[in-house]
Amino acid sequence: MDKDKRYRAKHPERCREIQKRYYESHREEISRKKREWYDKNKETIVRIRKPVERVQCELCRLTFVKTYIDKHIATRHTNPRHARSSDEQKNVCVAIEKKDEGS
Ligand SMILES: [Zn+2]
Repeated sequence: MDKDKRYRAKHPERCREIQKRYYESHREEISRKKREWYDKNKETIVRIRKPVERVQCELCRLTFVKTYIDKHIATRHTNPRHARSSDEQKNVCVAIEKKDEGS
């Protein structure tokens, strides 16, 4: 392990703080470089990107990326703290019943 690696392993909080400060002071520059990189590689990215499969939530009729739907149900329909309205809170029970049926 070289000197820098040893220092980073020994002082993770200090390194995180330094990185955070660097990011905050160079934020515009970092963002600009990312945008430039994306613009330069946009055609390739669009060409190789797989089409995103979307599914509709049976409880609220909103559509989501397929991989996100379980997380959506868990946060929006099974945890009353995250429900935004009383209708959503009612859906919490429905979602829990459906989940039990599924397994
Ligand atoms: Zn939903």
